[in-house]
Amino acid sequence: MNTDTPLLQSQPTAVAPQILLLNHFKALKLPTFAREYEKVGADCAREGVDYPRYLLRLCELERIDRERRTMERRIRLAKFPVTKSFDTFDFMAIPTLNKSLVLELARCQWIERRENIIALGPSGVGKTHTALALGLAACQKGYSVAFTTASALVHELMEARDEKRLRALQKQLTNVKLLIVDELGYVPFTAVGAELLFEIFSRRYEQGATLVTSNLPFDEWTSVLGSERLTGALLDRLTHHVHILEMNGESYRLATSKKRQKHNVKQNTLAEKGAATP
Ligand code: ADP
Ligand code: MG
Repeated sequence: MNTDTPLLQSQPTAVAPQILLLNHFKALKLPTFAREYEKVGADCAREGVDYPRYLLRLCELERIDRERRTMERRIRLAKFPVTKSFDTFDFMAIPTLNKSLVLELARCQWIERRENIIALGPSGVGKTHTALALGLAACQKGYSVAFTTASALVHELMEARDEKRLRALQKQLTNVKLLIVDELGYVPFTAVGAELLFEIFSRRYEQGATLVTSNLPFDEWTSVLGSERLTGALLDRLTHHVHILEMNGESYRLATSKKRQKHNVKQNTLAEKGAATP
């Protein structure tokens, strides 16, 4: 006889149904039901809404909340250094960037097709911003994402190797739907580091989508990866199904600080002029 389901049997009338309900909602993992059932119930009573529609409203609220919570969790797990989106990206500032391609990529079908993106360009042109925005779009569409820089990734892989947990980390990095590797090119790797990075790209080949940003054109990647043979093999895998984002232009940081300076000079001149007038 099953003795461990007392809550499902008839309850002593002394316990208020509200308390029992909250208990059931908690066990069934329905926090929105618990929070909203009384308020929605009162609304429905006032509006003369029937029972099925009352339940329907609660179910809809629970699902909306659940989806939001899952998405927030995905964003937390992605470890973005900051949250950026295309809402704050000025495409006019970088005319070499193919806007329609980027907006198409933000629909995330390339992730489903396990393709890659490589964003190339000098410092400050918005490569990281674009990578973050594509990463956020992927989280919103339901894909798991991991954001890291090339040097942090290599560091983490080396550490995992020393601590004998490399397999687990490799598995985790292979399984994520989108891996974003920012800033390949600033710091050269040791031979072991380059090989560990290569292994990740190699495992992900046709298994998952990878986005890499780099300040270096392809023919200079050997300078960070060391071996020409390894660079060739890595590029071969990475560029088989790839969308290249050419981002050549002036640094956005530099342009905005120049604009700010110009504005300040103008303000100061006006102030001086104002002060000079009797
Ligand atoms: P990169 O990674 O190419 O060095 P970032 O993406 O870090 O450049 O951009 C530098 C700063 O300028 C960031 O704060 C970023 O949000 C901003 N930025 C760059 N390009 C644009 C743009 N086209 N529109 C809006 N902000 C931009
Ligand atoms: Mg960057």
